Amino acid sequence: MNDLLDFDRRHLWHPYTSMTNPLPVYQVESASGVRLRLADGRELIDGMSSWWAAIHGYNHPALNGAVEGQLKKMAHVMFGGITHRPAVELADSLIRLTPEPLERVFLADSGSVSVEVAIKMAFQYWQARGQTAKNRMLTIRGGYHGDTFGAMAVCDPENGMHHIFQAVLPQHLFAPRPKCRFDDPWDESDLADFSALMEQHHNELAAVIMEPVVQGAGGMHFYHSRYLAGVRELCDRYDVLLILDEIATGFGRSGTMFGCDHAGISPDIICLGKALTGGYMTLAATLATAEVADTISTGDPGLFMHGPTFMANPLACAVATASLELLDNSAWQEKIKEIETILKQELTPCRERASVADVRVLGAIGVVEMKEAVDVARIQEKFVERGVWIRPFGRLVYIMPPYIISKNDLRQLCTALVEVLAAP
Ligand SMILES: *Cc1c(COP(=O)(O)O)cnc(C)c1O
Repeated sequence: MNDLLDFDRRHLWHPYTSMTNPLPVYQVESASGVRLRLADGRELIDGMSSWWAAIHGYNHPALNGAVEGQLKKMAHVMFGGITHRPAVELADSLIRLTPEPLERVFLADSGSVSVEVAIKMAFQYWQARGQTAKNRMLTIRGGYHGDTFGAMAVCDPENGMHHIFQAVLPQHLFAPRPKCRFDDPWDESDLADFSALMEQHHNELAAVIMEPVVQGAGGMHFYHSRYLAGVRELCDRYDVLLILDEIATGFGRSGTMFGCDHAGISPDIICLGKALTGGYMTLAATLATAEVADTISTGDPGLFMHGPTFMANPLACAVATASLELLDNSAWQEKIKEIETILKQELTPCRERASVADVRVLGAIGVVEMKEAVDVARIQEKFVERGVWIRPFGRLVYIMPPYIISKNDLRQLCTALVEVLAAP
């Protein structure tokens, strides 16, 4: 083992890993297009978009240019008492792209923080309206909203981190995971439990929070858009805010610009992150309706109580605006459709295998759910040997490639996945 990997092993935490028994890591030297180049010279086709983020691929000239151009002006400046063009341009793009009622923009530093911000907005909204009893959240099981405390408290209570942190997490309400899948015929009874919880608890509910249509890190489930439309109706009927966490679904991944577009609805508050900067750096945004923002701002204490040090970082804002422009000027709908078609063709045959529980595809997301958890270290090594980068978790082996991937590269990714799962 070389010095660098040895140092890494001794001193660096990786996401969700042990310091005493870490999984192996691969050293990436550079990345370009859909390829990651390892230190030993091998090249891997990227099937992960660096966790939903690198939608235009790596080392993109337009995105590099946006960072370089901004770097010459300033890398960062505080956002208290100061504004700058990159923040204003990004806010303008976000208001144009998101559903119409969302027009007040808070720029945060990561997805989890944008969820904290959304939850705080919901609490402050009801405080400002004098309804202080409305201070709990309702969500559905199977969700994932981030790793900070407010976000953990609305993650799936079994697969989330509830067990360990139970004593210090606020206690919210959970409806069962929707049963009706995205392409099943809609069954109205799917909403019954959710509806009953709303009826019973609306007086103490500040907001419903959920991922629209695609539940990502909580299990990669795709539920019916009518469920989401029903949730919107119930929120209106019972006067509860709707927060949609579009951090994973935002910017085309599921085939529409936002997950909520499948249901033709819009939330009161939306969280965006991951693909926002095209995977270049960390940035997230929480957008609210004018009604939510103005209510918060006119009630006691008259301020929204949040303001991170690196709020609206100009480099991140500049690259985000460039990424949104790239997306807007590309035929992304057709590209995602093409990816979806290939994922369906290539992955569906796996469904027949005894070891496979389910195969599901939506937009540029292809999931093979195994019956047993996979041995990540072992299977990862096999993928790398075959020249692909696929990172499973638990029983889920999935592909969500950069949108720019060629048909050939995508077929290679799928073939590697199918073959490795056949002989793990
Ligand atoms: C990744 C993710 C988050 C957390 O974002 P971070 O940038 O990792 O803090 C929150 N919600 C959803 C739906 C996500 O996929």
